[in-house]
Parts: sequence; structure tokens; C-alpha cells
Amino acid sequence: GLLLAIETSCDETSVAVVRGGREVLSNVVSSQIDTHRKFGGVVPEIASRKHVETMTIILEEAVREADVRLEDIDAVAVTQGPGLIGALLVGVVAAKSLALALDVPLIGTHHIAGHIYANSLIGDILYPSVALVVSGGHTEIVLLEEEGKFRIVGRTRDDAVGEAYDKVARALQFPYPGGPHVDKLAQEATEEVALPRSWLEPDSYDFSFSGLKSAVLAEINRSRMKGETPDFSALARGFQQSVIDVVTGKAIRAAKEFGARQMMLCGGVAANRGLRERLAALCEEAGVPLLVPPNKLCTDNAAMIAAAADLKWRRGQFSSLDLKAEAVMSLEDWSV
Ligand code: ATP
Ligand code: MG
Ligand code: FE
Repeated sequence: GLLLAIETSCDETSVAVVRGGREVLSNVVSSQIDTHRKFGGVVPEIASRKHVETMTIILEEAVREADVRLEDIDAVAVTQGPGLIGALLVGVVAAKSLALALDVPLIGTHHIAGHIYANSLIGDILYPSVALVVSGGHTEIVLLEEEGKFRIVGRTRDDAVGEAYDKVARALQFPYPGGPHVDKLAQEATEEVALPRSWLEPDSYDFSFSGLKSAVLAEINRSRMKGETPDFSALARGFQQSVIDVVTGKAIRAAKEFGARQMMLCGGVAANRGLRERLAALCEEAGVPLLVPPNKLCTDNAAMIAAAADLKWRRGQFSSLDLKAEAVMSLEDWSV
């Protein structure tokens, strides 16, 4: 069957048409980054308005590109949460209208389940599986004992990785979103400033990045106080190495403890080259196959929402038309 999916949780308006949960016929993404950049971050009110302006166009484009007719759509999926409430609402209203007009089932979908199941678009997921979710708003280690059953074994206690990247990037005078700039600078660096690793309790899979971010800011201030120019590239490298050590270290430990047959890397920060390379090396060493979606499927897009929604569709688990957008939403409770 044909599933049409809508994603509007943050600053990307996206609509995809996916056949049989795997075959992406179209995945149109309209990013608002240029609009938000001048404010140094996503402005929620502007995001909602932009989604309203863009939705119809993107919807038509996705259907046209998929080369199907709207009447051929068999179900409609939408990101229900978590995310910016005003932004989510635009997608939810569009999805409900469409489901009602076409008289097809509606599937409210969890955004992070989408980031994880983006991996099902590139390969077969083997269970038990461990997903390392690193995005702008989330940093989590998720255990999937079986398909569609989510258990969060570790999460950040303060900033998400992407958020820490963006904050450090700002201190290094890069525009929003700064993650890719810090990544590039770190790759090119020849020196490295030693920064702390936040391992927390020995058996914990949780994360904390605010101390690391503060350490970067403190280094910059210290240099300036001494009348020196801070070495931004050495700082970027130190920051990136600390992040990579901790997230990959914990993900691998989880994979071993839970006997994972598969590791999945997902979320926007999965685009980070240093992170991909290190995790690939560690997985190889541990004999655990690694799935990493291409960048286009790592950042927010509707095809990943279709991939997750397919879990519920196949089981006949639909949402009612009074579905509500949820700014905060439990991944575990969304399990099939
Ligand atoms: P969430 O999915 O948690 O709601 P989000 O959807 O806003 O958050 P994504 O779009 O998945 O987040 O990821 C965006 C984040 O990824 C930004 O913080 C950005 O700086 C970061 N990012 C993108 N590329 C890289 C990179 N190469 N290195 C580090 N960070 C990166
Ligand atoms: Mg985004
Ligand atoms: Fe996201």
C-alpha cells in the first residue's frame, strides 16, 4: 500500500510517499534554515507560519514526484511529537484533513521512532538492536529487543549533542546551525585542547554535555584574559573528541551488554564524520554490524516518519481523528 507521511516537528516541512514501508517514491524537504539563521536559532512562531505557507506546495510536489494520484493513498502518517507544538499542529491538521477527505487511516508517529526507523529504509534491522540517537534535541541509547519495541537505556541529563554543538559553534563564531562547521574545523585541526569526558556513574548510559560546553567557554575566556587568541580549531577538536569518546563508548558498551545483533546511528548529528568513523571502527572490532542512513535520511524528513508508521500500519494500529500534537511524547509508550 501507499503511505503518505508528513513531518513538521521543527524547522523542516516534509512530505513523503512510501510504498510498502520501504520504497521511497518521494521525500520532499523544505528547510527553513535560511529564515532562522539570522536569529541564531529556530523561532517557534516563525516556524509555524512557514509550515502553513509551505505545506500545500510540498504536499502537491511529493504526490507529483511520486507519480501517484492522491486517491491512491492508502494511509496518512504524521509526526505527532515531540517537537515545537505550533509546528507539529500544522502537520497534524493537514494529516487529519487528508485522512478524512480520502477516508483512509491516520497514524500518529513518534519523531524519534522515525529517526531510528530511517535505518529500515537502507537495510534489514536485526534484533536485538541498539540505536544511538544523536540529534538537535535528543541524545539517547535505545534498545529494541524486538521490532517496534523501544526501551530507552540512556539519555542526556542536560543538553543534547546537537544542542551542545550549536552552542559551542556560537562561541567559535559560526552561524546557526553550527554543528557541521565545528565538525569541519575539528577534522582540519592539527592541535587538540584536552577537555573533560563526562562518563557519569560507571554503569550509567546517561549523558551530560553542559560541563563540556562550559569547559570550552572557560578555555576561550582564559586565553582572552591572558591576551592570547584562542585556538578555535584545537578547541573544536578537543570538544569533538570528547563527545565522540563518550557517545561511542557508551553505545558499544550497551551493544555488548544487551547482546545486540545490530547497531544503528541516527539523528542529525549522525552526519558527523568523526562520529561515523569511530563508531564504524568500534562496531567492526566488536563484530556488530552498523547501519547509518545517508545524510538526507538522518536530518528531519517525512520518509523516516513513514518507515516508523509502517510498524503500526502493518499491525492495524491506527489513531483516531481527534489525535493531538504532543510537544513532549514518550517513545517507549509509542511501542507497538
Ligand atoms: P530532534 O530530532 O531531537 O527533534 P532536530 O530534528 O532539530 O532535533 P536534527 O535535524 O536531527 O535535529 O539534527 C540537527 C542537529 O544536528 C543540529 O544541532 C546540527 O548542528 C547537528 N549537526 C548536523 N550536522 C552535524 C555534524 N556534521 N556534526 C555535528 N553536528 C551536526
Ligand atoms: Mg532541523
Ligand atoms: Fe529530528
